[in-house]
Amino acid sequence: MPELPEVETIRRTLLHLILGKKIQSVSVFWPKIIKLPLEVEQFTDALIGQTIEDIGRRGKFLVFYTDVYALVSHLRMEGRYTVEQSDEPVDKHTHVIFHFTDRTELRYRDVRKFGTMHLFRKGDEFHSLPLAQLGPEPLEDTFDINEFKRKLASKKRNIKSVLLDQTVLVGLGNIYVDEALFKARIHPERMAQSLSDPEIHVLFESIVETLSEAVKKGGSTVRTYVNSQGEMGMFQLEHNVYGRKGEDCKVCGTELIKTVVGGRGTVFCPNCQNLKA
Ligand code: ZN
Repeated sequence: MPELPEVETIRRTLLHLILGKKIQSVSVFWPKIIKLPLEVEQFTDALIGQTIEDIGRRGKFLVFYTDVYALVSHLRMEGRYTVEQSDEPVDKHTHVIFHFTDRTELRYRDVRKFGTMHLFRKGDEFHSLPLAQLGPEPLEDTFDINEFKRKLASKKRNIKSVLLDQTVLVGLGNIYVDEALFKARIHPERMAQSLSDPEIHVLFESIVETLSEAVKKGGSTVRTYVNSQGEMGMFQLEHNVYGRKGEDCKVCGTELIKTVVGGRGTVFCPNCQNLKA
């Protein structure tokens, strides 16, 4: 599942590719992806003649802004966008196509069909689900250390599960939670409430640094990917723990362990990330 850095990279790439384009029509081949409005025809009719004015991001959601509307899109597991010429063949996993007046198209492809789209009048998007009740953006000033401390103090769960909770903060998924906890040298099964003030400070900084670095690297990786393939999406970074079960810790050389925390596969260093009482 794409997390904050991947979605941010997709946002920047798409913005570059479709900003200012005008929608001529919209085709929906799998109506269940459109969660709002309830009638798919209302969705397709509303977007005719609309111009892409901006693309925003809130957590792992993309928000396409047109003259009148805000289209909130979540890619979930496998969703991806491509921008193609209208005469390119369409495969069976393409479920929504935004046809532009210049004979290019924004295509939404999703093998598992878990992705969602909600259409709002601009300004209403933050007051309803799925964007309402989301926590702060970790790369913006609204991510506040004191508020973060208060939230952790109120959680009787392990720190990994708490960091995955999008009402605590947005954008982290399985990859970057493991990476941030490794960087902060905190065991994923520590109770959130048990973290000391200094540990929370280090964790806070680790989250910001891990995500900023990934956004920076992702940007350059995906630009190359787009130029050669004509599409954008997931990219592989060199991670410290994620995907490295059984390999040596880059800090101390100890073998990295994989376990399950809060139902999620979790890789960590048993030496660097010591489980204290
Ligand atoms: Zn280690």
